[in-house]
Amino acid sequence: MEVTVTAKIKINPVEEQIHALQNTVDAYRNACNFVSNIVFATKNLKQASLHKVTYQELRLIYGLRSQMAQSVLKTVIAKYKTSQRNGHDWTLVTFKKPQYDLVWNRDYSLTQGVFSVNTLEGRIKVPFETKGMEQYFDGSWSFGTAKLVYKHGKWFLHVPMSKHFKQADEHHIKQVVGVDLGLNFIATAYDSQGKTWFFHGRPIKAKRAHYKRLRQQLQRKQTSSARRRLKAMGQRENRWMTDINHQVSKALVTRYGKDTLFVLEDLTGVRQATEKVRQRDRYISVSWSFYQLRSFLEYKARMHRAKVIAVNPKHTSQTCPKCGHTERANRNKKTHTFCCQTCGYTSNDDRTGAMNLHRKGIEYIAMATEA
Ligand SMILES: [Zn+2]
Repeated sequence: MEVTVTAKIKINPVEEQIHALQNTVDAYRNACNFVSNIVFATKNLKQASLHKVTYQELRLIYGLRSQMAQSVLKTVIAKYKTSQRNGHDWTLVTFKKPQYDLVWNRDYSLTQGVFSVNTLEGRIKVPFETKGMEQYFDGSWSFGTAKLVYKHGKWFLHVPMSKHFKQADEHHIKQVVGVDLGLNFIATAYDSQGKTWFFHGRPIKAKRAHYKRLRQQLQRKQTSSARRRLKAMGQRENRWMTDINHQVSKALVTRYGKDTLFVLEDLTGVRQATEKVRQRDRYISVSWSFYQLRSFLEYKARMHRAKVIAVNPKHTSQTCPKCGHTERANRNKKTHTFCCQTCGYTSNDDRTGAMNLHRKGIEYIAMATEA
């Protein structure tokens, strides 16, 4: 199974290199806008004929080499196609930020510590930060078309990296882990040894509430600067939540390791996801965050020869993991406790959710290996 991750690499150009990079990304962006205007006017998305009408200008006015000119056409065509897939019929696409799309081994290469790239002023070699990136340079990953990005005074290279991983096989699963996603505990995991592991969500919940208060204050103001700050805050909040989800998914795969089957609830659809949480918590974009955590866990699991399945969430919060009795009253959402109305088994409600998911995972393995 192929896994692709986008590595965001910070590069550290010296002053004259910055100059070369700046000129190149600016020219590339301007060339994209030039081509975009032609595409918009002619509605032509064919690379070969676009090449004929734009090539002279791209070379002479924007100073691009022929390979860069081809990349510009590709970048613009792709952007129009995406825009049309999203239902925008022939609106002019503009490229605001400086950028540069680089084809592996032609426009750039990456070796341990050195990023080598074609610029308008020739090839330059720029050092980059390798901390945390070591695993991608063991020769087993292939690098795709990268984007050179200039953001907040810093230079980054976004590189899609792919590698083929052997899929975990049901016959070799050694451990089943039920993972309940929630707000009190971001994740509660229950494993085959009967051990429970909590990823505490309280500080996260507090920070989300803090964001909510700020958001309400800004929403009341209705000025353009308040709207700008609101947007920036939303982006900051998403980045922070993304970081948390990376931490949780990483913690899960490193804790349980190879040949693990992770069992999650299938929370596709906002309605189901919001049902899980209390009314006043609804402002939290729970479904987005859960979905992201699941997709992070899925690709990280693949890299560790583990597997993730998502099961129907029906009754996972109401069923007694000891005697199987299912009743809404088993669970007290206010006190976060589970108390079986039949056998009296009592526990934390996130934990019983994880226990029930663990059981569904065992059933899945039994069915998969029977065939
Ligand atoms: Zn019971």
